[in-house]
Amino acid sequence: MKWSKLMIQTLREDPGDAEIDSHKLMVRAGLMKKAAGGLYTYLPLGMRVLNKVQRIVREEMDRAGAQEIVMPILQPAELWKTSGRWESMGPGMFRLKDRGAHDYALSPTAEEMVTDLVKGVVSSYRQLPVTVYQIQWKFRDEIRPRFGLMRSKEFLMKDAYSFDVSLDAADASYMAMFEAYKRVFARCGLKAYPVEADTGDIGGKFSHEFHVLADSGEDGIAFCGGCGYAANLEKAERRVAPRADAPCGEMETIPTPGAKTIDEVSKFMGVPGSAFVKSLVYLADGRPVMVCVPGDRDVNEVKLRHFLDAKKVELADFETVLRATGANAGSVGPVKPADASLRIVCDQELRGAKGCIVGANRDDHHIKNVDLDRDAKIAPGDYADLVVVRDGDICAKCGQPLAIRRGIEVGHVFKLGTKYTDAFKAVYKNDSLEERTMVMGCYGIGVSRTVQAVIEQSHDANGIVWPASVAPFQVCICLLDPDNADAAQVAAKLESELEAKGIDVIVDDRQERPGVKFKDADLIGFTVRVVVGAKGLAAGGVEVKRRCDEKSATRVVPPAEAAEAVASLLA
Ligand SMILES: [Zn+2]
Repeated sequence: MKWSKLMIQTLREDPGDAEIDSHKLMVRAGLMKKAAGGLYTYLPLGMRVLNKVQRIVREEMDRAGAQEIVMPILQPAELWKTSGRWESMGPGMFRLKDRGAHDYALSPTAEEMVTDLVKGVVSSYRQLPVTVYQIQWKFRDEIRPRFGLMRSKEFLMKDAYSFDVSLDAADASYMAMFEAYKRVFARCGLKAYPVEADTGDIGGKFSHEFHVLADSGEDGIAFCGGCGYAANLEKAERRVAPRADAPCGEMETIPTPGAKTIDEVSKFMGVPGSAFVKSLVYLADGRPVMVCVPGDRDVNEVKLRHFLDAKKVELADFETVLRATGANAGSVGPVKPADASLRIVCDQELRGAKGCIVGANRDDHHIKNVDLDRDAKIAPGDYADLVVVRDGDICAKCGQPLAIRRGIEVGHVFKLGTKYTDAFKAVYKNDSLEERTMVMGCYGIGVSRTVQAVIEQSHDANGIVWPASVAPFQVCICLLDPDNADAAQVAAKLESELEAKGIDVIVDDRQERPGVKFKDADLIGFTVRVVVGAKGLAAGGVEVKRRCDEKSATRVVPPAEAAEAVASLLA
């Protein structure tokens, strides 16, 4: 392919709205162009990468036994009403009406439509298991699109869905996808880590997110260097050492006028935040419950929801707080709340806490010298792991310290159970001709996001450093003297020799200075660069260098050996 024939636009300046390197480079290297907020056009170079990632995904899905289909993006509201998600998806789902005033959604995902589909096709256990997938555009009404393809309104996803006869049988489908995902990301040149994620109501270990580590990532992940445990922050668990607090004197109520937050009260009293018990009133499926955690910790609402076995937990409104405790938020605590029957649950670290400071359940007052066992009414079974872990916390599995890293989620595998098959009555007949509900799993890969994640993980100050498997072109031949017949002929010959080896090549045949060509080649990041110029040829050869190597690694080889040298660099 001749550079001069391709619509390529490279930019020297970063786009003004780009905050992270991969977003800047996608635009500067001419892979994509912003069409509107959160919407991008894939230019020819970007399209080549997107296609290569899709090809890898498709090959691995097929290899894992999944079957490709494609479902409509435009989905009738009735499907979403059947599952209850027409309401629960909230404003993040694009909705529209046809001319007959029927409601539709622009698909953000397709559990409903695929369940409806499989229900209509599968009737017997003999047809199971089945896994189908599609690579299709998805939509999300982001309030604030940012980070380029990381948070866009329109994105390309591979979504797969498995259907099995039982929860046990579904494990095999899950593991097949889990292994396929590892291969997909490895083939894309990505270091992606499977990370345990919350399983909602299913329980067990059957939800993993695949994360690419990057400082710009939006998700926090806890890693254990000791045992390899990795979990997202919703899920990550910690162990605490039993405390041995010294006995404390009698409780003493002190005025703390105007100080509401732990920070404010701790400044006011001159005591560190960790000496406080942070108390918050939540509604768990509508019932008030007080949640106490160490003053310097945050409540993990997912853990709280599981511990309380609730469908929904949310911070209580101020009237509920007042009724339950006798005070407003900021002055509430576990000692004698107004509602004596209020359930109080505590983070495990508070078990046996003495000498702490709590809200007094009286506006603008706190109590010090509190011994939770002595002064508060907390059931022994109401201590649990309820906080978000942080760097240095102790791994619950092995006792080594956890490290918190940032990650970009590029895939998710999830054992769904019967949530959707129940709603759609998607049943099959077993060998006794009894009706049974199918068990589902769902599996997503952000295809467009993966493209950008590769860049986020693989770039330097000069531009992108593409792994050969997904580079827009694996090789760029910088033809320094396009008007020189000898040089042009060497370049053309090398191009066809490489193409014969199945290697894709772009020849920079533009009338540009060498410096411009080198800068562009480094910016776009072709895996191998070959420099062909009249001067070099006169001295005996062409220059060959991988993008990821130092300048000193440049080799000069005779034109006849160039194709072989390039092929060995790519291998
Ligand atoms: Zn560990």
